[in-house]
Amino acid sequence: MKAIVNRTLTAILQESEQASGIRVDNPATGECLGFVPTLSTTQIYQVIEQSHQGQTEWNAKPIKERCGILKKWHQLVIENQEDLSRLITLEQGKPLSAAQAEVLYGASFIEWFAEEARRTYGETIPSPNGDRQLMTIRQPIGVASAITPWNFPLAMIARKAAPALAAGCSFIVKPAEKTPLSAYALAELAYQAGVPKDVLQVVLAIEPEEVGKVFTSHPLVRKLSFTGSTRVGKLLMEQSAKDVKRTSMELGGNAPFIVFEDADIDLAVEGAVASKFRNSGQACICSNRFYVHSQVYDEFIAKFSARVATLKVGNGLDKDVVIGPLISLEAKRNIEQLVDGAIAQGAKRVNAPENLDGCFMSPVILEDVKHDMDINRHEIFGPVAPIIRFDSEEQVLKMANDTVYGLACYFYTENINRVWRMSERLDYGMVGINEATISTEVAPFGGVKHSGIGKEGAKQGIDEYMNIKYLCLGRR
Ligand code: ADP
Repeated sequence: MKAIVNRTLTAILQESEQASGIRVDNPATGECLGFVPTLSTTQIYQVIEQSHQGQTEWNAKPIKERCGILKKWHQLVIENQEDLSRLITLEQGKPLSAAQAEVLYGASFIEWFAEEARRTYGETIPSPNGDRQLMTIRQPIGVASAITPWNFPLAMIARKAAPALAAGCSFIVKPAEKTPLSAYALAELAYQAGVPKDVLQVVLAIEPEEVGKVFTSHPLVRKLSFTGSTRVGKLLMEQSAKDVKRTSMELGGNAPFIVFEDADIDLAVEGAVASKFRNSGQACICSNRFYVHSQVYDEFIAKFSARVATLKVGNGLDKDVVIGPLISLEAKRNIEQLVDGAIAQGAKRVNAPENLDGCFMSPVILEDVKHDMDINRHEIFGPVAPIIRFDSEEQVLKMANDTVYGLACYFYTENINRVWRMSERLDYGMVGINEATISTEVAPFGGVKHSGIGKEGAKQGIDEYMNIKYLCLGRR
């Protein structure tokens, strides 16, 4: 690695090795990449106070200047794409090409919100009796905090930090302990672009709970944006309730992928591969359960399994690898248990089992899966595709909505009437129709039910970091 990303990380790693901070490992090799520093609760309090100071100054800057800094940040992320991607692959495991895509995806939010910052309009409201002027202004909420996961260690931070900074907030993030290096690198590029150090800070403690408790209880922190498991999200919402703190939650999913009898099967197979095996199945919008109409069931399975057989599993730095390691041995064990459970309940493997070492796991396709099997109730978060047969639209709609989650869902059909019926009735925040790669900075990302609250990206994304203030001006 070259230039600044490398220098920053060397500094962080050296400083903390002595202080024996959190150990970061490469999931592909088990090799220790280094140690990152941790803060005590008192130090996190200091960070919050600095952030509060910084926010006032940041918000006082002309919007055009703030936009300029964000645009510069975007440009630096793009210029450092190669280094950042390598770092993501080293700490998280995904193939280099996927890491490159993550960097571009993360950068796209910085660019988008640099532009959106200039459109944080208020309104004038016609007064019912004409005796006063009514209007709204939008203001930054203040210090915003975030807790982010390990599966997209750079993009999940960019998607929150960019709208926060664009709105005029300061931002403190606690990245995942398994993948903190990308967070430090992203922050370093922000500083180079001109973001003051107080305005964007990265913190870690020995225990994530400690940081969560401080973020949800400190009066100067006015917002928590969380991406992670539904279990932890609920806990943080409970903690936030005590201080009536604003939250946005991007939590777990249980995405159904439906293939109707009139679908373009080749297109559906490509979509199924993309939505299931991206990041080795470790994404909240990954397809979790496949429902295939009886008339095309055998054809779909034959084509899908032939395509999956071509996916190379291995170290993300190696050429042509499509499926990198899982994040940990524990994650792998949990996924294998789900597969064993489904087989014990009557599911059959389509492809022969292949035992790989370490955190590597080869894709598993299961047929003869029944909707009520346990595997369909869990977010698998791994390269396993359970396939369920269905016979009618009503039946599949009922099964698809039969979950506490509501993040993303996908369906394939060539029937335009069905497209509308299904789109309206699927109880999800996002619907992919004949398309499985749906995330983009210009559209609102977010779920319903236990999958969360709030939107990221799009014109709505910045609202999560702003308050609407109503002004009523009396006329004399
Ligand atoms: P996963 O199981 O995929 O790691 P988690 O929800 O456990 O998902 O983790 C997502 C993020 O939440 C990580 O940054 C993790 O450190 C953090 N986290 C986990 N438990 C807590 C907690 N009790 N309080 C605050 N943050 C937490």
